[in-house]
Amino acid sequence: MSIKYNLAEIKQNIKEAAEKSGRKEDDITLIAVTKTVDVDKIKEAVEHGVRNIGENRVQEMTRKYEELKDKDILWHMIGHLQSNKVKYIIDKVDLIHSLDRMSLAKEIQKRAEKNNVIVNTLVQVNIAEEESKFGLMGEEVIPFIESILKFDRIKIKGLMTIAPFVENPEKVRYVFRQLKGLSKDIKAKGYSNVEMKYLSMGMTNDYKVAIEEGSNMVRIGTGIFGKRKY
Ligand SMILES: *Cc1c(COP(=O)(O)O)cnc(C)c1O
Repeated sequence: MSIKYNLAEIKQNIKEAAEKSGRKEDDITLIAVTKTVDVDKIKEAVEHGVRNIGENRVQEMTRKYEELKDKDILWHMIGHLQSNKVKYIIDKVDLIHSLDRMSLAKEIQKRAEKNNVIVNTLVQVNIAEEESKFGLMGEEVIPFIESILKFDRIKIKGLMTIAPFVENPEKVRYVFRQLKGLSKDIKAKGYSNVEMKYLSMGMTNDYKVAIEEGSNMVRIGTGIFGKRKY
């Protein structure tokens, strides 16, 4: 199947899932996840309307960033981010989806001051409490947000989660529902510098369910580019 065909099908699915939850296709941001995908294929996706690109490794992102400099792309860091690598992406990334600890927040603040930028972030939450996953436990999120309010260079734009992989995405519907609930609780606190604008949830296997439960940012790799070859 071609990238063009895959994108058309995903867009149709996004539209249907958005309408089921009383929203429009345009309310949902599609992030094409391009880890391990060649630059030529990324260019093809961009030609077919992709504007948001997600990578989970700093080195890979910075390499592709250089190679795709002439394209109109917004870059998303969706993977675990080591503090010592923040400096390489601070001036390139549009949204960091994986803010999950104080040491990382401190480093982002420091590098953002040096570069004179404001950094948009999502707080990563491990709703399913899987040991293998990064992210804060649900009950840790509000205290964490309160502890980083003092960092004036960090804008919290929402929450992100990775649901456990299951054959039947209905089994992880509760994960998406809980993240949505948490974002409402946080919104109700009315913190300045915190805007619960984005809910980054849903991947190839579960994005339809995630959108039905309120996601407005889906991260799709396999569904666009096919199975990854590592
Ligand atoms: C790889 C990855 C995705 C995309 O996964 P697919 O199942 O290929 O759609 C989404 N989010 C994160 C954080 C990832 O690492």
